[in-house]
Amino acid sequence: MIAEARRLLAFGMRFVEGILHPGRISFLVLFVTDRCNAQCPYCFNTFLPHLSPSTRQDAASLLSLDEYARIAGNLNPLFQVVLSGGEPFLRDDVDAIVETFYERAGTRLFSIPTNGSLPDRAARKLERMAASCPLATFNLIVSLDALGSKHDALRRLPGGFEKALSLCRAALKLRPSRGNVNLVVTTAVSDDNLGEVGALQSFLRRALPPKGWHHNIQYDQRLGSRRADVSRLQEKARDGKTNPDGAPGGLWERFVSRWYVRRINDIILDQLAQDRMIYRCVGGRKIGVVMPDGGAYPCEPFVFEPDYRRFPRRNLRDFGYDFKRLRREPGYLRMMEFIEQGRCRACPWSCAATASMSYEWRNWPLWLRGPAASS
Ligand code: SF4
Ligand code: SF4
Repeated sequence: MIAEARRLLAFGMRFVEGILHPGRISFLVLFVTDRCNAQCPYCFNTFLPHLSPSTRQDAASLLSLDEYARIAGNLNPLFQVVLSGGEPFLRDDVDAIVETFYERAGTRLFSIPTNGSLPDRAARKLERMAASCPLATFNLIVSLDALGSKHDALRRLPGGFEKALSLCRAALKLRPSRGNVNLVVTTAVSDDNLGEVGALQSFLRRALPPKGWHHNIQYDQRLGSRRADVSRLQEKARDGKTNPDGAPGGLWERFVSRWYVRRINDIILDQLAQDRMIYRCVGGRKIGVVMPDGGAYPCEPFVFEPDYRRFPRRNLRDFGYDFKRLRREPGYLRMMEFIEQGRCRACPWSCAATASMSYEWRNWPLWLRGPAASS
């Protein structure tokens, strides 16, 4: 009980610290590997240079644990780290990277999206991280697209559904002893699974315990702003709201699924419909993205949105692994000005919307507004 209270206090204090320091990065995405054992044809990350065959990095050029330690030391205090990939659990020292950020950057929230294909290894590492970082909260985010063989076929990952389900169960089993582990099952509603999400939801309600997890259903964001068809996205978002059995879990899980996730989706759909940014994005200011080779960006979409290709790419290795130094560079400052002036094309990335709605107080009134008529 006391440990739980200390963790929640640490979480809250670090988050508030992030709000009180608007110029300091609080949300860092680390692409810790460019390897993946799945081949999702719709992979968001195939737009990124490290997953494109022509620009694939060799292992020697990937950031080492020591280099991550230097990045972490320069970002203290840092509220949240997302460990992305590829499949992050394919990187053997993923737990050591987490421990480094916990110790050196004081990170108190770790989110780990995974395809769930390595349940034993992932559960082992999750338990170790949760034990060695007791003041941190861990969100394990397991992707499930559809039921059984349909999921496996979509991801070209034989046995992937059963393995992912087994990881979900293992994570939930940890909760009585490791209260700092949360499970999020995430489903992106795309053309490939439209109309099938309700069946998946019902199955999960039966297959998993009633509490300790929530189902994050989002429309497909992987098309980027140029190719986003707003009416199709609205249809997908509506499909995500169709839940024959209601949201799983207790009050907190219902709050997250019904209000928070849907509000973020509504905001993004509104801005895509209006074809303009309707919130002030904190990309580059509160958000940082680090590629496996040290490439540094203000957000994920900046890498593949055509409007942004003119901005030069930079590597943290050339700036002493220090975001503060990088952000003083004239070209980076010009890019930041572009973002601050709201000149990005309406962006569908929900992580940016969530961080921007949290850290930029001028966005807060948007939480209270209902969806526009366009939604
Ligand atoms: S599991 Fe994730 S990173 Fe791997 S191919 Fe699929 S979407 Fe891409
Ligand atoms: S609006 Fe989108 S593309 Fe622009 S900085 Fe924010 S997240 Fe990146």
